[in-house]
Amino acid sequence: MAGIIIKCLSKFYGGKDSGMAALRGLDLEIKDNQFVTLLGPSGCGKTTTLRLIAGYVTPDAGTIRVDNTVVSSPEGVAPPDRRGMGMVFQNYAVWPHKTVFENVVFGLKLRKVPAVEARRKVLDTLALVNLGGLENRLPNELSGGQQQRVALARSLVVEPGILLLDEPLSNLDAKLREKMRVELKQLQRRTGITFVYVTHDQAEALALSDQIAVMHGGELQQYGTPDEVYRRPANKIVADFMGIVNFLPGEVRAGAGEAPVVIIDGMEFDGFARLGDSVKAGQAVDIAVRPENLRLARARSEEHRLSARVTERTYLGNLSEYWVELPTGTVLRAQTHPLEQFGVGDEVFLAIDAAECSVFPHVAEPARAAA
Ligand code: ADP
Ligand code: MG
Repeated sequence: MAGIIIKCLSKFYGGKDSGMAALRGLDLEIKDNQFVTLLGPSGCGKTTTLRLIAGYVTPDAGTIRVDNTVVSSPEGVAPPDRRGMGMVFQNYAVWPHKTVFENVVFGLKLRKVPAVEARRKVLDTLALVNLGGLENRLPNELSGGQQQRVALARSLVVEPGILLLDEPLSNLDAKLREKMRVELKQLQRRTGITFVYVTHDQAEALALSDQIAVMHGGELQQYGTPDEVYRRPANKIVADFMGIVNFLPGEVRAGAGEAPVVIIDGMEFDGFARLGDSVKAGQAVDIAVRPENLRLARARSEEHRLSARVTERTYLGNLSEYWVELPTGTVLRAQTHPLEQFGVGDEVFLAIDAAECSVFPHVAEPARAAA
């Protein structure tokens, strides 16, 4: 089992002078025995980071330490097979003409583990990934999910301290993906192996991780628990990437800093979550409001102060979604209990759960509703 410390790590594929950073100044501490996810949109540098950790790519700047030994720096890189790490890819990469057993035993043969011991380890590992009894099958006699478990078993059988997984569930259908999510989490807990997991799927990251590193444009935006990155996003990029968010325009009146009072539609609102960035009095801001933090009512009250009109409604079974338009033209997306029913065209009054909303400085771009 092992922890990883990444300091100031950068990678420029076109050479250092190209200015095209796939990764820029990454600082990250991955503790021993944790499930850490690198999350972000396609092209943000997740795979590059994973390949740097694995030792397939040499950094242009910075260092990677594993258990306090430098394994990567611009001066040199310890080879992948000397790092005690396993890797699992999106396209399972199992050998089609070898049985499950032969696929999994490969790494042990390389290490010259005696046959009897190797057999026991393979069968134990297959049981661990719920493939018990399938050791004589060929990959084409297995489902996609089972093939991905073979790939997992092949990495796990050599007992790595660290397992690197690059979008391992992307090729599976939605139901299976959810099932595998739970299995992966249990596997990490049972084995105590440090998992570094890459995905662009925020729901997957929230469900699996102890810590999430949210990346964008080759840079780390926030590193925190699922609860922190969802409820206390460090900036608008993180707020926007983690699920659905509305940006409600407002203006800070007074007491900027700890507890800003924000004017929305001529009314004062307070009690917002702490600010990620410094926001000054008089400044235009965007309040990040998630759909579940807006409540609708038919009548105005002390809480339900913002008037709006329902422009669209979608029934989703376990909840209803409403698009509501403020007099200013701002459109917000709200989610409510399915039994609360409003019709398109109805006048409604909105309450905001301010304690769950973060306030960010407005940067000149058109205010928009969540898509
Ligand atoms: P992600 O896994 O988050 O989708 P990558 O790490 O694969 O992102 O890519 C980050 C950036 O680096 C992208 O702009 C990509 O086009 C670029 N890139 C990745 N690999 C190479 C490569 N081998 N050569 C040149 N550019 C690359
Ligand atoms: Mg990738």
